[in-house]
Amino acid sequence: MILIEGAMEEEIAYFLSILEESEKKIIAGYEFYEGKIKNKRVVISKTLVGTLNATIATTIAILNYEISMVINQGIAGSHCLDLHIGDIVIGETCRNVNAYKMPIKEKGEGSNSLEWKLNKRALEIKKADTKLVTIFEENLFSSGKIVKGTLGSGDVFNREYDRIMWLQETFQNLSEDMESIGCYTVCEKFLIPCIGIRVISNNELLGESIDKRVALELQKNVAAVLEVL
Ligand code: SAH
Repeated sequence: MILIEGAMEEEIAYFLSILEESEKKIIAGYEFYEGKIKNKRVVISKTLVGTLNATIATTIAILNYEISMVINQGIAGSHCLDLHIGDIVIGETCRNVNAYKMPIKEKGEGSNSLEWKLNKRALEIKKADTKLVTIFEENLFSSGKIVKGTLGSGDVFNREYDRIMWLQETFQNLSEDMESIGCYTVCEKFLIPCIGIRVISNNELLGESIDKRVALELQKNVAAVLEVL
């Protein structure tokens, strides 16, 4: 069974609208919808927003359903000048961009996040399943650009130009979201193939403010790829 995850209602609504023989379960407050899309058995999971929620929801799904692969998809912020709203990032790798140890500053010395050092978890590079990366590269459609690379993930919505550039130079991430690192980490532990697919909903570097409507097109395009999985 394929687990398809989205954090918010807007990120799963299309999948639910085409789900056949749907059976809903709520476990510990997390929603799961089992059924069929394009004759494939799937579970749609509303993970809720954030790395902890994504981690919990992915674990619950794996322990309660026969999951053979996981697709974590949804919206993300661009961390590149040439990635705009509607473009798609295929997450070949995923990095925790919110795991630091900061230098000591005394009372009154303020705070400077550009000085923070990466801790062990920030140095880890999580990998998507290589076969899934190839399948999505070859079959995913978008009216925008499609690029393959690193998803940055953490519980922060970065909106400072210099901070975003620092992150980009440090992690070489193309985008930033709040769930994919939870999914990649759980799947690595359970040895389940996974992939993160993110559509750009905002580019804070360029003042392109968040447009969640792009989540719909992404779901349609991901659903089309299900046929070849
Ligand atoms: N509480 C808000 C959350 C929306 S933004 C609401 O419901 O309206 C956060 C969500 O969008 C997260 O699921 C995250 O994965 C994604 N996201 C989009 N752009 C992001 C960005 N620039 N940084 C971090 N997460 C982003």
